[in-house]
Amino acid sequence: MSYKKKENLNARPYWERSYAKKQKYKNHEDFHYRGEIKITGKETDMQECKECHRILSLTAFTSGSLRSDGAYYLKKLCRECQTEMEAEKREARKNAPPKSEGCDCCHGKNNLEMDHLHGTSIFRGWVCRNCNSGIGSLGDTLEGLLQAAVYLEKDKSKIIETLNRIKKGNRG
Ligand SMILES: [Zn+2]
Ligand SMILES: [Zn+2]
Repeated sequence: MSYKKKENLNARPYWERSYAKKQKYKNHEDFHYRGEIKITGKETDMQECKECHRILSLTAFTSGSLRSDGAYYLKKLCRECQTEMEAEKREARKNAPPKSEGCDCCHGKNNLEMDHLHGTSIFRGWVCRNCNSGIGSLGDTLEGLLQAAVYLEKDKSKIIETLNRIKKGNRG
């Protein structure tokens, strides 16, 4: 009985099956062409650069990763900021020491990437992809990271306790 019901559901067109899929389908109508290349968003859309915060037309951004419908997402940084960032990274890489054994942050061993101090060409460390993107998502600042700590643990003394334990563990 219940099996039959399931089968009927599956026979329905996919955009009627769930809200999530309907949303996805809708989003994918949102694209335009840049020459031969399919780009996400409408040609007239504007996007704010995450670095310089200027609101620019989509042509100011280069393509990044690929969406499931074959359209490219655009980078979050405008062309100018992207170029600057790449130059910083190239410069930082020249002065970088050899790769660490593990992530300089969590000590994990997977996918180590070079991290540099934003806005400079100063090498900061070798960190895993998770730490790198996590720190970046939290604003790349101590304040952002501590805000998350306060969100996770309301008791300030416990945060300090944990901080001391981590420091002891890492530096003998
Ligand atoms: Zn920019
Ligand atoms: Zn890590």
